[in-house]
Amino acid sequence: MVLLLLSQLAIAQTPPFVKFNDRDSEYLRRIHRPDRAPLKSDKVSPGRWTRWQRQARSKLEELLGLAQIAEDCRGHQVTVGMSVAKKENGFTRQLHVIETEPGIQIPFWVLKPDDYQVSPRPLAICAQGHGGNSWNNYAGIFHSEDEKEKADARKATPGLEAVKRGYVTIVPAVRGLATVASIADPKGRHGDQPCRAQLVHCLLAGRTAIGERVWDCQRILDWAFATLENIDRRRILFTGNSGGGVLTVYMAALDRRITVAAPSCSFTSYTSSTGFVFHCDCCLIPRVQSELGDLSDIGALIAPRYLIAVHGKQDSLHHLPDVENAMQRVQKVYQKTGVAGHFSYRWGDAGHKFYPELMWPWIERSFEEIQK
Ligand SMILES: [Zn+2]
Repeated sequence: MVLLLLSQLAIAQTPPFVKFNDRDSEYLRRIHRPDRAPLKSDKVSPGRWTRWQRQARSKLEELLGLAQIAEDCRGHQVTVGMSVAKKENGFTRQLHVIETEPGIQIPFWVLKPDDYQVSPRPLAICAQGHGGNSWNNYAGIFHSEDEKEKADARKATPGLEAVKRGYVTIVPAVRGLATVASIADPKGRHGDQPCRAQLVHCLLAGRTAIGERVWDCQRILDWAFATLENIDRRRILFTGNSGGGVLTVYMAALDRRITVAAPSCSFTSYTSSTGFVFHCDCCLIPRVQSELGDLSDIGALIAPRYLIAVHGKQDSLHHLPDVENAMQRVQKVYQKTGVAGHFSYRWGDAGHKFYPELMWPWIERSFEEIQK
């Protein structure tokens, strides 16, 4: 208890992530008011929990523009093509392409352990963050030795790790993040950032970039459930670092087929205590603070399913006290709903990267519990 109080005191004394001038600071504090969010999870009583989740999930789907995407895709038949599987050391790797909406083709890798037909396997979906080729890196494909060294240093090969641990593994190219799945930005109008170009087009059209990413991953999951052999549907993992971690939180919040979620270096509040917006513009959900709540409330939609959030103490994109506050909010929800052991958050000692040694043992313990 003393240690806990000391650590909370240390957090309280940590300087804010950024300081704004007095005018901006007052303005930002006034408009970013998580305490007045209408669907925040803190005050929901256990008896109203299911109802709250239904309401919040429905509001989230609305804010993501998923109905608009569905409307735009009405009558579209999702199709999947595939290339020849290639044998690797202990597994096969096969490129697939799914047309998730008319003319939009999203490639994804499927990695299968050589012995996957011996017994039902867990399924892992590993979603990339920013970085045009990182989805290939996740699956163990590198354009150069330099690219491989960088990916290895950041442990950015979760697809390879998953298949070596016996998971049937899917690694999708994520829209706006993978070069192959991004829209052009002629004249650099959107800062030569494909994810910002995607966001602007989406917002004008009643969508969001996150909504498109969720849509694509759900269509891939539909295909996986309908097609892949020997998958244990009780053991479905979604994980990603950075932008892929943000996608992990939204996917798991909305799609209850996912039984374990592992967002890395991403799961914090939308804004710092001083009003700084942590995530990239492409993660923006219009009106989410004023009509729903904080990202920690979105995380509360994952309960009672398993959730482990991993963070880096030296992560320059995030701020330890703000992350701690968000995590403690989620922890209270899991405690309140009687499944405290289904949530954990861990701190790695380094920066913005995967921490496989922190996440995999917890994930595998969770799957063992699910199988009991
Ligand atoms: Zn972005």
